Amino acid sequence: MNAGRRVYSTDPAPMCPRCRRLVTACRCKQAPAAKPSDGVVRVARSTKGRNGKGVTVITGVPLTGADLQALGKRLKALCGAGGTVKDGTIEVQGDHRDALVEALAKNGWTVKRVGG
Ligand SMILES: [Zn+2]
Repeated sequence: MNAGRRVYSTDPAPMCPRCRRLVTACRCKQAPAAKPSDGVVRVARSTKGRNGKGVTVITGVPLTGADLQALGKRLKALCGAGGTVKDGTIEVQGDHRDALVEALAKNGWTVKRVGG
């Protein structure tokens, strides 16, 4: 007599977590989003093609345009280092992951330090 409490189990197909369509109707794979944001800001280190000196690469920041530029400027000042902001990614020269993770977390974002 608990019919009203039954859990529905009528999902015929899984849903795409990104666009929330049925995967059969999902277009994410055909046209991937410019920045697939899962709400996590990632702080990584990269040494690719930069004379081994390394840069700290920040991705997933939920800001765009002038806001993102302003954040990049602030973070570079914080680290006393140069860097660039492009394609939704902030790069700061040198390995400043600890300081940047701390600074980004203060915005209330979920921040993950990735890489070794
Ligand atoms: Zn999708």
